[in-house]
Amino acid sequence: MSEIGGMNIQKLAETHGTPLVVYDENALRDKLTLFTKHFKSDFLETDVIYASKAFNCKAMISLIEEYGCCLDVVSGGELYTAFKAGYDCSKIFFHGNNKTPAEIKMALDFGVGTIIIDNEMEAAELAKQIQGTDKKVNVLLRVNPGIEAHTHEYIVTAHVDSKFGISMLDEEQIVNVIKMLDSCDNITYEGLHAHIGSQIFDKKAFSELVRKMFAFAAELKNAHGIEGTTINLGGGFAALYTAEDHPIPIDEVCAEILHTCEEENQKIGNLIRRICIEPGRSIVGEAGYNFYTVGYIKKTPNKLYAFVDGGMSDNIRPALYQAKYDAFIAGKENEAPYADYTIAGKCCESGDILIQSIALPEVETGDILVMKTTGAYGYSMASHYNKLALPAVVFVRDGQAREVIERETYDHLISLEK
Ligand SMILES: *Cc1c(COP(=O)(O)O)cnc(C)c1O
Repeated sequence: MSEIGGMNIQKLAETHGTPLVVYDENALRDKLTLFTKHFKSDFLETDVIYASKAFNCKAMISLIEEYGCCLDVVSGGELYTAFKAGYDCSKIFFHGNNKTPAEIKMALDFGVGTIIIDNEMEAAELAKQIQGTDKKVNVLLRVNPGIEAHTHEYIVTAHVDSKFGISMLDEEQIVNVIKMLDSCDNITYEGLHAHIGSQIFDKKAFSELVRKMFAFAAELKNAHGIEGTTINLGGGFAALYTAEDHPIPIDEVCAEILHTCEEENQKIGNLIRRICIEPGRSIVGEAGYNFYTVGYIKKTPNKLYAFVDGGMSDNIRPALYQAKYDAFIAGKENEAPYADYTIAGKCCESGDILIQSIALPEVETGDILVMKTTGAYGYSMASHYNKLALPAVVFVRDGQAREVIERETYDHLISLEK
């Protein structure tokens, strides 16, 4: 792999500098095509909502708009970016467990279509702000179904203490919140939302979620006369980071979800009219690459380090979650492995290791190391630790590169300082 998007890797690094975040735009487009094509049902309306926290910038949001997808934002900043990208705010779903009064006001002013209510106090704040105005908004209520799924395992427990949503076990509170919201003329209660985790490899976790959500929607109707017709199943679809990962193909996971939804909906008299999913990582993860220039090589008694010119400041996932990544040296793709290297960043933190151990050909100063699948929660979680400037972000497609986010300069870094 000496090219990405028809562009030579070393050339890209020379032109744009390193560390550099590169997205293969056709790979992004392919994922969006797969989701929009396969998440379609003859019996239910469907919406694919891009969870923009995985990678939120104007260029990405324009792509989302082009494919007719909806957009999930979780803060005023993400919302502002979407607004500035010219995105149709009526297609925005606004999430978060602690949306501030100012953020709620902003959502109403921008005409955000749907607010996902997380808790009782937030519901009251929204009602207070919207009553007596001519604004209108749809709401979904985030519930906690007691399913937690991460990577290879999922557990169905009575885990009632999540910071997100209201536990399904607390039916009384859920009913009270919905009834309060529904009693406001300018708020339309549409249904339920849940999100059970990320990097989920087991499609049974999703079918379990579908069953619980449909049964709960029926319970709300039968026991309390509450008619919500939308179910939003959240995100969590996995991406391939290393050869150990086996994500469920997008068409398969969509088929599994749709099939289970249709089956469950029949059981409850077709109460539900619309289902939504919110993929983030699975759309942008694999399309992204981080380029670094190798600096010094250092041997310790037990390790062989290759130091790179970025690190936890542009990709905190290895330090934060022990996330694993694959990488290669540009121009040496066909060379035999020479040794196991530890790839370390330049931040002042012993935990700033991007890859604990990877077999690579001989790594030399000046080589371009390319880390794969960095497109989700990489740039979006980046920080200014050690006052490192944020990298540039480039979209490449059919032999053309366009910079969608500039590299920060030292002057940017101090621009807010008095
Ligand atoms: C983070 C998040 C998503 C996206 O999760 P991925 O693992 O990136 O697919 C979707 N919905 C909600 C509510 C989230 O918090």
